[in-house]
Amino acid sequence: MYYGRATDKLVQEQGECGGVITAVLIAAVEQKLVDGALVIKRGESIYDGAPYFATTKEEITEAAGSLHCAPTLSAKLIKNDFNGARDLRIAVTCKPCDARAIIELSKRNQIDLDNVYMIGVNCGGTMLPGPAREMIRQFFDIDPEDVVKEEIDKGKLIIITKDGQHKELSIDDLEAEGYGRRTNCQRCEYNIPRMADLACGNWGVIGDDAGKVTFVEVRTEKGQKLLDTAIAAGAITLKDAPPQGIALREKLDGIMVKMARKAMATQFAQFDGERKFERLFAQFDKCDGCRECIDVCPICSCVECFTKQEFVVPKDTVPPDPMFHLTRLMHVSPSCVNCGQCENVCPKKIPLATITHMVQSSVQGTLGYVPGQSTADAIPLCKIAEVKA
Ligand SMILES: Cc1cc2nc3c(=O)[nH]c(=O)nc-3n(C[C@H](O)[C@H](O)[C@H](O)COP(=O)(O)OP(=O)(O)OC[C@H]3O[C@@H](n4cnc5c(N)ncnc54)[C@H](O)[C@@H]3O)c2cc1C
Repeated sequence: MYYGRATDKLVQEQGECGGVITAVLIAAVEQKLVDGALVIKRGESIYDGAPYFATTKEEITEAAGSLHCAPTLSAKLIKNDFNGARDLRIAVTCKPCDARAIIELSKRNQIDLDNVYMIGVNCGGTMLPGPAREMIRQFFDIDPEDVVKEEIDKGKLIIITKDGQHKELSIDDLEAEGYGRRTNCQRCEYNIPRMADLACGNWGVIGDDAGKVTFVEVRTEKGQKLLDTAIAAGAITLKDAPPQGIALREKLDGIMVKMARKAMATQFAQFDGERKFERLFAQFDKCDGCRECIDVCPICSCVECFTKQEFVVPKDTVPPDPMFHLTRLMHVSPSCVNCGQCENVCPKKIPLATITHMVQSSVQGTLGYVPGQSTADAIPLCKIAEVKA
């Protein structure tokens, strides 16, 4: 475990916390360890971040910095737009849910993990651009377009405006009002991407180093290769993380896990107790069968979707037969990585991610499977097949 920093002054300045990630990506591309870097590039404002395949130092540097209003997911993008990384090698910056989804798709032979270098960023949660703008206007009394930077630190959402104002509000208070982080992020127990090749973040950086370096944990041989390549190119400096820093990082992670479990209890309670199935099916009755949830889900990867079979779900009925959602739940819940994409795209605002995560949590103990956690354990249906064989 190290404290890492870019050596290039511009990369240090552009980077969120010393630019080690940007420097590692540049070295990986320039030294031909990978063909390009899949990063998140800022558009016109902090609410406007989109995936971008960068192949030059300039392009990678331009995409430096953390965008908390960019809840994109790279896994299905790699599968669909990059042919599952079968023909080219990609370094990708990953939130833990990105990394977990990439691992799940690799287990389904949809992504060639040997060609993907996952540079994980710790993640305390992301926000949706629209509600974030609304929240900043309503609670911070600031024009959202004047915000140049936002971060979540020690339970506060901090925003900085172009004229240098700093304002902060308790994230708990904002979330109690229905704003703040996406609801799936509030329930997320995986804030340090330990399943990625490198796990990077500012938690655990103490003293004079705060804000200037990033805590880097090497998780795999590929992670070590990324660092070795950057060191050989003279792109980064590393020093050992101090024991107090390591302990603080663990402590912060523990606090986030406790908060996530509390959020799960609160959010899942809407489908607990008396008439719970009635309430669940009332949600499914809102569905107009647009299938957006299936299109974005990183776990949905069947070539021929089972729910398109007429004997499972009769055609053109609105709402679709309950078998649509029950089949979907049966397919995705054992491996759901709680990325929240299904819920975010649903035009009828059905709390799909909450429902799937609730089912996933309840089957996790029985199946003994934590989705996207490791490349070693087989996906549940394969396990059943192994037992039967
Ligand atoms: C959404 C988000 C939440 C975070 N929350 C925490 C936290 O709670 N605790 C903590 O310790 N650290 C957190 N981090 C990590 C931290 O902000 C820094 O990214 C990290 O310390 C690396 O700093 P750097 O200067 O090396 O990164 P940089 O050199 O600036 O590189 C950052 C890279 O991340 C990419 N990126 C930007 N936004 C996203 C995104 N939304 N999804 C995927 N990739 C992205 C950029 O394109 C860039 O390539 C978070 C990062 C993000 C993106």
